[in-house]
Amino acid sequence: MSLTNEQYNSIMREYDEMRQRSIRESEEKVKRIYEKYPELKAWENRAITLKVQQSKAAMDGASREKLDEITDEITMLLVRRQSLLESVGLTDKDFEPEYECGECKDTGYIYDEAGVRRKCKCFIKREMEILYDQSGIRVLLQRENFSKLTYDHRSGDDLERLKNAVAICRKFVDEFDREYKNILFLGTVGTGKSFLSCCVAHELLESCHSVIYMSAIQLFERLADSRFGNTKEESREDNENIYGCDLLIIDDLGTELSNSFVASELFGLINERNLKRRSTIISTNLSLEDINDRYSERVLSRLTGRTGNYMLIELTGRDARQVI
Ligand SMILES: [Zn+2]
Repeated sequence: MSLTNEQYNSIMREYDEMRQRSIRESEEKVKRIYEKYPELKAWENRAITLKVQQSKAAMDGASREKLDEITDEITMLLVRRQSLLESVGLTDKDFEPEYECGECKDTGYIYDEAGVRRKCKCFIKREMEILYDQSGIRVLLQRENFSKLTYDHRSGDDLERLKNAVAICRKFVDEFDREYKNILFLGTVGTGKSFLSCCVAHELLESCHSVIYMSAIQLFERLADSRFGNTKEESREDNENIYGCDLLIIDDLGTELSNSFVASELFGLINERNLKRRSTIISTNLSLEDINDRYSERVLSRLTGRTGNYMLIELTGRDARQVI
């Protein structure tokens, strides 16, 4: 699955607009600075004129002394400029556009260490939003994030478990770029599994990571759709984002139809993401025994064994959504 030309062009137009807006705002800001401190502009212009004069003089064979004299004057002008900036609390950054994404300067592309042009992570995030039509998720995330977290309706052991889970999720977010980890949420309906998944998704989207949030039903339908009529390799390419996004959240595992296709796709997906060290969060009402029976022992061992890197979080309590 990749963007159609139309979708791609529409993203690029958004970037163009964003970039133009930042540049325009910056130009206005710089203009205001020069209006307030006209001497800045005068010194800068003088420095430019001197540099041109110096180049000409060098070509005309001017003496070293003469050239040094010009250099000194330029330096003096720049020092004056710098000290004025400092005295009024400005820096060179105030003369540059403030881009939404500092990394790609709102172009959507960056050059990696090898000099290869690649999509910036902000572009990939945008791409996911379009490809996986996550607009519904965005609305959900406004409602379900750490700022909306409440411990009401929880007490005793249930409360302790929830607090512990929240601490683990916060740490998961904080260490996301350094530590490869996954989460398996276990527990009955309404204990907060999906809510906490949303909290993590919200935080990581805010920090410009590519996050795909799908219910197990949607996920396996999608995988089946792309597999239909494709070779295994083609369908893998088709679902590159599901296999490679920074964080994949599979909500409500176990609500999809149970069959051998699902079991083998799930194993393949978990395994491949593990090899790529891409994090996954799974929430399920199933018990570990159910997982074993439904998807096979090798899936269970990926989720519970050391190689799978999953943290198991079990939440308990009454269905908080039913409590008024
Ligand atoms: Zn970017």
